[in-house]
Amino acid sequence: MEKDPRLKPAIRVCPAGLYSENEKGEVVLTIDGCLECGTCRLVCGTEILDWNYPPGGTGVQYRFG
Ligand code: SF4
Repeated sequence: MEKDPRLKPAIRVCPAGLYSENEKGEVVLTIDGCLECGTCRLVCGTEILDWNYPPGGTGVQYRFG
């Protein structure tokens, strides 16, 4: 859970819809389903969002068929 209100733009731009605002006005992030696109980092900046690509082999997995 993130509480910094400067993360609010991420609610609109995250393509996976992982950011939301709770009843207290706090920005909440659910990391499951992250596409690792980095959009939230670009929009919010690295000062308030410490975001890194996961180590090799632990990131997004695509399933076909
Ligand atoms: S990196 Fe993940 S949490 Fe950030 S905008 Fe992309 S999908 Fe959303």
